[in-house]
Amino acid sequence: MPDPMRLRFPPSPTGYLHVGGARTALFNWLLARQSGGALVLRIEDTDRDRSSEAHTQAILDGMEWLGLDWDEGPTFQSDGVERHREAALRLLAEGRAYRDFTDPAALREEAAERGIGHPSVLAREKAEALGVEGAERRAAAGEPHAIRLRVPEGDTRWHDLVHGPMSFPNADIDDFVILRSDGSPVYNLAVVCDDAHQHITHVVRGDDHLSNTPKQILLYEALGLPVPVFGHVPMILGPDGKRLSKRHGATAVGDYAGEGILPDAMVNFLALLGWNPGDEREVMGRDELIESFSMDRVQKKSAVFDTEKLGWFNGQYLAALPSAELEPLFVERLEARGIGPAHWAEGAGSAGSAEIHRLLDLLKVRARTVEDLARQAEPYLLDDVAFDEGAVAKHWLRDREGAAERLDAVAGALADGPWEEGALETRLRACAEALGVGAGKVIHPLRVALTGQAHSPGIFEVLVVLGRHRALRRIERALSLVRDPDFSLS
Ligand code: GLU
Repeated sequence: MPDPMRLRFPPSPTGYLHVGGARTALFNWLLARQSGGALVLRIEDTDRDRSSEAHTQAILDGMEWLGLDWDEGPTFQSDGVERHREAALRLLAEGRAYRDFTDPAALREEAAERGIGHPSVLAREKAEALGVEGAERRAAAGEPHAIRLRVPEGDTRWHDLVHGPMSFPNADIDDFVILRSDGSPVYNLAVVCDDAHQHITHVVRGDDHLSNTPKQILLYEALGLPVPVFGHVPMILGPDGKRLSKRHGATAVGDYAGEGILPDAMVNFLALLGWNPGDEREVMGRDELIESFSMDRVQKKSAVFDTEKLGWFNGQYLAALPSAELEPLFVERLEARGIGPAHWAEGAGSAGSAEIHRLLDLLKVRARTVEDLARQAEPYLLDDVAFDEGAVAKHWLRDREGAAERLDAVAGALADGPWEEGALETRLRACAEALGVGAGKVIHPLRVALTGQAHSPGIFEVLVVLGRHRALRRIERALSLVRDPDFSLS
């Protein structure tokens, strides 16, 4: 087991918890749990205009729904502004940063005119010409100015947990502003100060932050702070190879919760976005993920967010969930569809009943989401079955007389005798034989009569779940529809 690691998840509350953020949070959580360390949740709310409490709450809700608990926080970056500012002033006092009184637009213009690659080169030149005393005098007189880091010569290197050895020439990094003229610290300074303040040992975040890392390392070094270990995890793309966005469908974790995805399935799916256990395993519970996760197996190339695959994972988790645990989620979905327990037909069972658990056992192996499950359960819970037009056309109307004859024979075969799968199968097969047709010819019209659909779980199981009385009533109704020459759905 690695030494206890201190990790962080520092979302900016400018939107909901996005699947990319959730995946980053998950990787950090897995490392914290695996190493017996800690996960710090820090809300990076310094962009006052774009941050909101509602978004902060949505992020916390998303983390809770996923079951990603944190050990410290939430702390708020805006609470540390004074500390960030002090760090900038300390760098200034030590000569590692300088005051820049130039007007940014004028600086850009002059740099362009003189063919100077980056305006900060000019800013440094002017600061040097002014001298520290001159700068202090102008600052004391209240003249507005920014503070820039004096980037040293050389290269900035680190060993990335995903990308391996990384090196950036400092010549490519300008003397960047660390404190703006309005006194506000820039993002890179705030992050470094907070990560150091919170004793973060490992910074695991998205590749989109790769270009910030050399600047942050320069700041750690200038401030004399220990540099954490960095690992940059790959971006998440949509199936078309473009960066995942709303165009690809839901991107907020909360949307998936609303669609009936189970948190365990989401966690499993997210863990495999950019990581794999090195063998064929796919369905992996939390404990297994904690045990198996390693940054060594995080891939460099982007990961593809495939909602089909998420549906598949969810199907696996639904099927494995004991029906008693599934029931509350199921009932919640039904209520959202306006068909809660109060609307269930007589004989369908009541909340918590064996009938409902049997129904869930029957349906859960075929459903991909709880929403699916609720939809599929409708014909069993309500007596008013909605008929699928194609199913009716094919199995009832194409040969009305034949269908009526077969349904009538089925009604006779089901009128008495034991009501369990094996016995029902024997009676239905005997019935088909007596009619001189294949079993399918009997089963298809019956399925439409019972469920309204051309597809359903095994017909004998369906019969058991419905019970004799409700099944016979449906067959009778089917018969009257099939025999009615005016009946058609088209
Ligand atoms: N607040 C940053 C973001 O949401 C994260 C910064 C980091 O991980 O260092 O992208």
